Amino acid sequence: MSIDLTGIRSRLMNLRTEYILQIGEMTQEYHDHESDIHDSDGDLEDAAQEIYSEEMSQGEADNLRMNLQLIDEALARMDDGTYGACLACGKPIDEKRLEVIPYARYCLKDQIAFEE
Ligand SMILES: [Zn+2]
Repeated sequence: MSIDLTGIRSRLMNLRTEYILQIGEMTQEYHDHESDIHDSDGDLEDAAQEIYSEEMSQGEADNLRMNLQLIDEALARMDDGTYGACLACGKPIDEKRLEVIPYARYCLKDQIAFEE
């Protein structure tokens, strides 16, 4: 296999740190908003707006958590030597695809099949 595993591993580790920091910031913001709502004197429209933006950042945080999960799985596959193989068909994932998404689970063909 000609994939630069060392390079990909360090990219995964960097991404992992980045996502953890971002999730930390979002969780912090979330709690800030929460105390804002409790402090307000019952303006429902404002409160609804606050809740909406909270849900937005919760959604983003969920996305980051999911990516973080994929990164951890990719690192685990590196450790057990199965990194780079599609989880659906077992064939090697295209190297260029791994360069773009180092935590990809599936080859492009299977990814498209799952999304349809
Ligand atoms: Zn596949």
